Amino acid sequence: MADCIFCEIVNKRMKSDIVHEDEELVAFNDINPQAPVHTLIVPRKHIESIHSMKPEDAPLVSKMVLIAQKIAEKYKLNDDGYRLVVNYGINGGQTVPHLHLHILGGRRMTWPPG
Ligand code: AMP
Ligand code: ZN
Repeated sequence: MADCIFCEIVNKRMKSDIVHEDEELVAFNDINPQAPVHTLIVPRKHIESIHSMKPEDAPLVSKMVLIAQKIAEKYKLNDDGYRLVVNYGINGGQTVPHLHLHILGGRRMTWPPG
């Protein structure tokens, strides 16, 4: 998809700090981290948001969560815990229109979120 920064990262046309990649997914560290660990997991396929995923995308979204587990283990977050976040739309705070799962850890998160 033209002009999508996460497609640019996935296709290696834009530099990023990649921590995992496979046939379907790429994970890289957030450029503006909100916690000691802040990694984004994105599908290679351009899906605009969680709200535009189709039934056939369900396995991909499940895999995003399973990769989040692996990244949590890599950064030793499993004992203390971590937070997974998907923002959608203006009110949800989505700023990049390519589906991504945030994994945040390494500090105590607050609730409710701002
Ligand atoms: P969201 O607000 O949920 O759409 O999250 C988008 C995230 O992408 C934000 O946390 C940004 O800091 C992050 N981000 C934007 N551009 C880049 C980039 N080039 N490399 C890594 N992370 C980025
Ligand atoms: Zn994209």
